[in-house]
Amino acid sequence: MAGLAERLSAALDADRVLVGAAITEDDTHDESLTAAWHAPEVVVLPESAAEIVDVVRIARELRVPVTARGSGTGLCGSCIARRGGILVSFRRMASILEIDVDNQVAVVQPGVTLQQLDDETATHGLVYPVFPGESSASLGGNVATNAGGMRAVKYGVTRHQVLGLKAVLGTGEVIRTGGKFVKATTGYDLTQLIIGSEGTLAIVAEATLRLYPRPPHAATVLAPFRSLSEVTASVPRIVASGLAPVILEYIDQMSMRGITAASGVDLGIPEAIEEEAQAYLVVVLEELDRARLDENVERTGELIAGLGALDVYVLPAHAATALIKARERAFFAAKAAGANEIIDTVVPRAQIPTFLTQVTEIAGRTQSLVFGCGHAGDGNVHLSVFQPDPDKLHDTLSSAFEAAMALGGAISGEHGIGTEKRSYFLELEDPAKLALMRRIKTAFDPDGILNPGALLDAEPVDVVAGTRPETAAVARP
Ligand SMILES: Cc1cc2nc3c(=O)[nH]c(=O)nc-3n(C[C@H](O)[C@H](O)[C@H](O)COP(=O)(O)OP(=O)(O)OC[C@H]3O[C@@H](n4cnc5c(N)ncnc54)[C@H](O)[C@@H]3O)c2cc1C
Repeated sequence: MAGLAERLSAALDADRVLVGAAITEDDTHDESLTAAWHAPEVVVLPESAAEIVDVVRIARELRVPVTARGSGTGLCGSCIARRGGILVSFRRMASILEIDVDNQVAVVQPGVTLQQLDDETATHGLVYPVFPGESSASLGGNVATNAGGMRAVKYGVTRHQVLGLKAVLGTGEVIRTGGKFVKATTGYDLTQLIIGSEGTLAIVAEATLRLYPRPPHAATVLAPFRSLSEVTASVPRIVASGLAPVILEYIDQMSMRGITAASGVDLGIPEAIEEEAQAYLVVVLEELDRARLDENVERTGELIAGLGALDVYVLPAHAATALIKARERAFFAAKAAGANEIIDTVVPRAQIPTFLTQVTEIAGRTQSLVFGCGHAGDGNVHLSVFQPDPDKLHDTLSSAFEAAMALGGAISGEHGIGTEKRSYFLELEDPAKLALMRRIKTAFDPDGILNPGALLDAEPVDVVAGTRPETAAVARP
């Protein structure tokens, strides 16, 4: 668009406004298996909230869509800029502003990665407990997707850890929400509205996050079971035991074979047991006190053995680390195996066995191959779907989402809706809720410039009025 880059260059330094060949491939995609890659018209690299305001004001005036991008590890296409749009990258806003040890909070800019924050909090004996499987993800992206991960069963998800935000609305106004405190009953909770909104309500310029003491002692218990339903049925019993595991995952046989082969992990399980095992339970316990940990490991072993496990193993530290890392890479193992889509449905944890039985029936009907693993402790089921036929793939996903919702669950437990799950969301969600969400969107972003096409909009390109030259599609490798 004539004038867009010039206007932005006048507001930011020209070397922080990238166009044409200066835009790298990284800024054209996320990790979704299905989203079309697309170059933005312009990439901007703001260094402050005030510069984000400048970008939003120019975008509003010219009616150009604005998409925020953290590290691009998202799995639903929601950080890919719209055609002719502006991509806001936070690589120049990646500082940890404060670690407040007494109040146990961190104040971070949006481009700070989870790894960066973990390295810093470790030096203070503290931890930010949200660990989605990709530590290069940014805190801004985590806030916008309400990221979860394996530790959600003990600590909750991003929503439970964000105490406050500084955010730029679609009007260009800057708001501060919350603060270094846990509770407030002072009007609507705008922090919670922005969390999980996928960059459609506001651009996060700063986040105040809750920290916890970092437990120095950990143990990983691995238990193979004869059937997947035995594993998933044992999950509510373990949660009810009060042992408070930090990780409570199920991994089905095919996924376990895939992730251990891809990462070369040898868990030392006898071959006969491996042959018989249809699924595995992984329980990680963390404690501040060694004796307490040993006692809880003992209790966990007894409990799991009583729930029908074929055997129970307490993994040596190196094998435990390797297994958790391999589990985090499950997505890449499925991608390498040719999965056509990944879903991250959530259901109440006690409904996981019923849900997986229904998914098996759906997969049989649509002739699809479906297997997976999940954060069973909080009802999150991650499934790799192998079905090259687009109609059958749609049928499989739509039926699985419908089944999850009928059991009291939701389409996405953590990755979000973005562009790739939007059609299912619009088809299956309560129309009254969708209408309310659209009214909320209008209040935050009256001209619909913030990430149009993600989440709510049926027609991404038509949302923002005016004609824009179409930027080129980028071929997926
Ligand atoms: C191997 C792998 C494992 C994963 N495991 C998990 C998991 O266990 N749990 C989980 O929840 N997720 C998981 N994810 C998904 C992903 O890591 C998370 O969604 C993460 O929160 C995305 O962060 P990001 O910085 O990469 O965001 P991006 O992908 O860059 O963006 C994601 C969304 O956030 C918006 N956004 C980014 N920054 C801002 C900002 N400053 N203000 C407003 N909006 C913004 C974008 O517009 C987009 O809508 C996994 C991904 C991979 C590749």
